[in-house]
Amino acid sequence: MTDPLVKSMALLRELIDEAAVVAGFTGAGISTESGVPDFRSPDSPWMKNKPIPFDLYLKSEEARKEAWRRKFIMDDLYRGARPSRGHKAFASLVESGRMPGIITQNIDGLHQASGVPETQVIELHGNGTYATCLSCGRRYDLGWVRSRFEASGEAPVCETCGGIVKSATVSFGQAMPESAMRKALKLTLACDLFLTVGSSLVVHPAASLPAMAKENGAKLVILNREPTPLDPIADLVIHGEIGPVLSECIPGGR
Ligand code: NAD
Repeated sequence: MTDPLVKSMALLRELIDEAAVVAGFTGAGISTESGVPDFRSPDSPWMKNKPIPFDLYLKSEEARKEAWRRKFIMDDLYRGARPSRGHKAFASLVESGRMPGIITQNIDGLHQASGVPETQVIELHGNGTYATCLSCGRRYDLGWVRSRFEASGEAPVCETCGGIVKSATVSFGQAMPESAMRKALKLTLACDLFLTVGSSLVVHPAASLPAMAKENGAKLVILNREPTPLDPIADLVIHGEIGPVLSECIPGGR
């Protein structure tokens, strides 16, 4: 490890020790060590297809079928993903009571898999590990969707109300989940340390939260392989790998 990195890690430890309330904020970068590629790095599989916007999903049976086909291909590739050292480090901060919640843009459920209670994971972009009916909200296992889709070739509809069933992620053009946004704002304004990890910080409104925390008096730390637009306002920027840095700086993160 380089000398500046060692110094930055010592400072990160201090900031975490001094903080009463740490807000965790994560992007796709925390899951790359788990084998799930992020969105914007070169060769991203997520960029191969043009996204299906929400209004098209609602309008077109063909679009729904295409969305399920793509989803099952990706799910097969990343089925075995397990929490990374970064997920485990954050889980240990949650367990210690220092981090009341993790605001995440991720949809992979790996924070929950690392032992963080569902109520403490604030998912801004939904969750891709299950589906819901867009009309009545009934929740469906993906296995249920897949078996019906493969048997009939049709996108399944809700057994209760006949509504459109969709993966529980937030698509382009779909409203942000209100309750998650409320919880995220509350934590952002309550924390004295906002720790953002593995996000390019370009997707809004999620990326507005770190700046809001900083304006409200919290210290802002950005840990990411590459520069982000918010680096200039951060109290500490670490351009490093999440796994090694967090597992060294946070007890229990190994
Ligand atoms: P992003 O892909 O825009 O940015 C990820 C950042 O993490 C990049 O800047 C990259 O350099 C950095 N990074 C990757 N691996 C790293 C590592 N090991 N250590 C340090 N830095 C690392 O991701 P985003 O900002 O979260 O925005 C992407 C959107 O795509 C989100 O809305 C999210 O919902 C979605 N997405 C989610 C997943 C997932 O759930 N795992 C995966 C891909 C995309």
